[in-house]
Amino acid sequence: MTRYSALSLLKNAFSHHEAWAPAWRKAEPRDSYDVVIIGGGGHGLATAYYLAKVHGITNVAVLERGPIGLGNTGRNTTIVRSNYLWDESAALYEKALSLWEGLSQDLNYNTMFSQRGVLNLAHNHGDVLEAQRRVHALRLNGIDSEYLSRDEVKAFCPIIDIRPDVRYPVWGGTLQRRGGSARHDAVAWGFARAASERGVDICERCEVQGIRREGGKVVGVETSKGYIKAGKVGIVTAGHSGVVAAMADIRLPVESHPLQALVSEPVKPIIDCVVMSNAVHVYVSQSDKGELVIGAGVDAYTSYAQRGSFHVIEHQMGALLELFPIFSRMRMLRQWGGIVDVTPDASPIIGKTPVDNLFINCGWGTGGFKATPGSGWVFAHTLATGQPHAINAPFALSRFETGKLIDEHGAAAVAH
Ligand SMILES: Cc1cc2nc3c(=O)[nH]c(=O)nc-3n(C[C@H](O)[C@H](O)[C@H](O)COP(=O)(O)OP(=O)(O)OC[C@H]3O[C@@H](n4cnc5c(N)ncnc54)[C@H](O)[C@@H]3O)c2cc1C
Repeated sequence: MTRYSALSLLKNAFSHHEAWAPAWRKAEPRDSYDVVIIGGGGHGLATAYYLAKVHGITNVAVLERGPIGLGNTGRNTTIVRSNYLWDESAALYEKALSLWEGLSQDLNYNTMFSQRGVLNLAHNHGDVLEAQRRVHALRLNGIDSEYLSRDEVKAFCPIIDIRPDVRYPVWGGTLQRRGGSARHDAVAWGFARAASERGVDICERCEVQGIRREGGKVVGVETSKGYIKAGKVGIVTAGHSGVVAAMADIRLPVESHPLQALVSEPVKPIIDCVVMSNAVHVYVSQSDKGELVIGAGVDAYTSYAQRGSFHVIEHQMGALLELFPIFSRMRMLRQWGGIVDVTPDASPIIGKTPVDNLFINCGWGTGGFKATPGSGWVFAHTLATGQPHAINAPFALSRFETGKLIDEHGAAAVAH
C-alpha cells in the first residue's frame, strides 16, 4: 500500500487525486481464521491492528454487519482525556492517551488528534472540593491535571460566562491540557487501513448471526456470508453486545441506551478547547469545520433505536446557554443518536467469558471513543495470550460476581 506523504500527495495532484488506491482491501471472508473479531468499530479495528502489529497474528478477520465505523465510533463527540478518578481507570485511559499521542505517525493516517485541553467546570463548593481531590488523585497517578480558579477559567476560555449572579455560577475547574479531540472517522479508517496493510481481512456487510460452540468451546461463527471457523472470537459490538453475547447463551450486565449529540451551523473559530460541566450537564467543542459539537446524557429508557428524545435536546440547549449566552442565536444544523452499552458501574468489561476462546470487550457506555487505541491494545493482548493484561485484569466480567466494582458514574464531570 502506498505510504501517505507529502510526496504521494504531490504525485496524486497530477492525476487530480482520482488515482488514489482504496484505503483498505475490501475482503470477502475466508473459511477459517485464527481470530475473528465481531464488530468493525474503532475498538474492533484497533484490536485487529495491535494483534497484527504487536503479536504478529495476522490470520484475523473483522466482521462488520454494515460499513465500518458507522456505529458509535462515527457518532460520538470525540472527546479524548484520561482524567478518571480510580487507579484502574486512570491506567486504562492513560494507556490510551499515550497511544493517541503517536497514533497518526504509527498508522500513517492523520487522526487529527488535537490536544487543545479539556476543562471540567466546578459550580459550587462541593464541586470545587471534588475537583481538587480529583486533581491530586490524578497527579499521584502521574497524569497531568491542574485546578483553575474562576478567573483562570475565564482566561483559558474567554467566552464562558463567569458572572456570579447566574443560576450555576462558575467557581473554578480542572484542566487536562493533554486532553482534546480527534476525527472519529479518521480513527476507524486509519486503523482499518493499517490493519489491512498487515494482512487482516476487513469484511464489511457480514453480519454475525450465531456463535457455534462444541464442548463448551467456541469453534466459529454463523454469518450472513456463511459459516466461518475461528480459533478465538472477540465480541466488540458496543450497543449490540447483549444481543451478540446471547448467541453464546451469555447474559451480560449491560443495558443499551440511546445517546445523542448535535452540531451547530459552522462559524469562525470561537472556542479552542473542550468544555464540560456536570452541574448543567453539557459538553462542547468546535470541530475543524467550525461546527459546535454538543452532547448531553443518555435517554433514561433502554432502546436499540439510533435516535434520542426531544426533551434531552431542549435540556442540552438550556445547559449550553447557561455557560455560553453568546451562543443564543446560533442555529443547530443536525442531530443524531447512537446506542451505548452501559454497565452497572459505568466501566467497561474487557476479558474472558464463561465460554472457552470467546472474549468480550464492551460496556464502554458513553465514553469509549477516548479509549479506542488503549482498548484495542489490551484486548489484542488478551486475545493473543488468552489472559488479560495487567491493565484490563480489573475490568473482568467476574467483577459483577465478586463485587469488586470500579464505579465511574462520576467519570470526571459528565459522562464522557
Ligand atoms: C452521541 C455520542 C457521543 C459520544 N461522545 C463520546 C465522547 O465524546 N468521548 C468518548 O470517549 N466517547 C464518546 N461516546 C462513546 C463512544 O462513541 C463509544 O464508547 C465507542 O465509540 C465505542 O466504540 P466501539 O468500536 O466499541 O463501538 P461501535 O463503533 O459502535 O462499533 C460496534 C460495531 O459492531 C457492529 N455490529 C453490531 N452487531 C453486529 C453483528 N451481529 N455482526 C457484525 N457486526 C455487528 C456495529 O455495526 C458497529 O459498527 C459517545 C457515543 C455517542 C453515541
